[in-house]
Amino acid sequence: MRPAAANFYLTYRCNDTCEFCGMWREADLQKTPEAGFEETKKTLSELKDLGVAYLDLTGGEPLLREDLPQILKHSKEINFYTTLTTNGLLYPQRAKEITQFIDRLIFSLDSPASDEHDRIRGAVCFDKVLESVKIAKSLGKTPVLNFTLTRESVASLPEMATLAEELGCLLWVNPVFDFESLNGFEADTIDHIKYFGYKSNVAFNLAALAFIKASGNNEKRPRCRAALAVITVTPDNCLMVPCIKNKEGKIKIEGSLKETLLASKKLSKMSGRLVICRGCMMWPYMIPSFLYKIDRYFFLNLWSAIDLYRKEYLLKKGGKK
Ligand code: SF4
Repeated sequence: MRPAAANFYLTYRCNDTCEFCGMWREADLQKTPEAGFEETKKTLSELKDLGVAYLDLTGGEPLLREDLPQILKHSKEINFYTTLTTNGLLYPQRAKEITQFIDRLIFSLDSPASDEHDRIRGAVCFDKVLESVKIAKSLGKTPVLNFTLTRESVASLPEMATLAEELGCLLWVNPVFDFESLNGFEADTIDHIKYFGYKSNVAFNLAALAFIKASGNNEKRPRCRAALAVITVTPDNCLMVPCIKNKEGKIKIEGSLKETLLASKKLSKMSGRLVICRGCMMWPYMIPSFLYKIDRYFFLNLWSAIDLYRKEYLLKKGGKK
């Protein structure tokens, strides 16, 4: 089976200092050189040739990349379905040069209260997100608000749903990847989240919620298929196998991407089996992994994907009236 998705880290630099993210704290990571446009373009084309359909341009803050418009334009030309997540700080000034090339534009919003959102993010950015949403809508987009759910923030889900409705956005409820912050998510909490599924502007992944209930990946009977489902590219044009978390699995793309992938086959087989895999809930890997085995996660994930696309479509349609 071909990989469904690519997680393409354009930069590790960020203009936020989020309390739940370790990236900005790692000095070495922040010094990572970034591949130039031609090298990035070659890797994107090779990903497409391998049959990857879904491209997630991520970071760090991807809008810090000067050459982002060229990267997005090339991704569009070779027919990727491209998603881009931003904190909104730079979006107002860059909106016109990038929006037309993005299929799903996602703004991070962690709280309906500006002071709380800014505290979590370590930067004054709540108002920028609201401004960004307005600009994106004026450019014909229906943005998604990515609400990172923690034990603490779950209490503000009703207000978040209302805010998203007022803004005419879809709210994507995304449990944080960090297991500690989810520890203590009880069955009632998960039922509380599921309750919001009736809303036409709220979406989440039922397979992810079931996976939280099951305490994440079990390294002895792994459900993760990271290397099979997702190709991870770093800002310095390396692969991370089986996923971004495995620092020992960094391999420079030399020659062709296909050859580099073949050379990493042994590491690929370690998906979900490493010590770091215990209890893992890295959704950018786990959600595509759910496609690679027919079980209850497969069907819950499929149902959730249909629900997400349906709600997104209806919102877009409603916005055009
Ligand atoms: S760390 Fe998580 S995403 Fe990475 S291979 Fe292990 S289980 Fe999969």
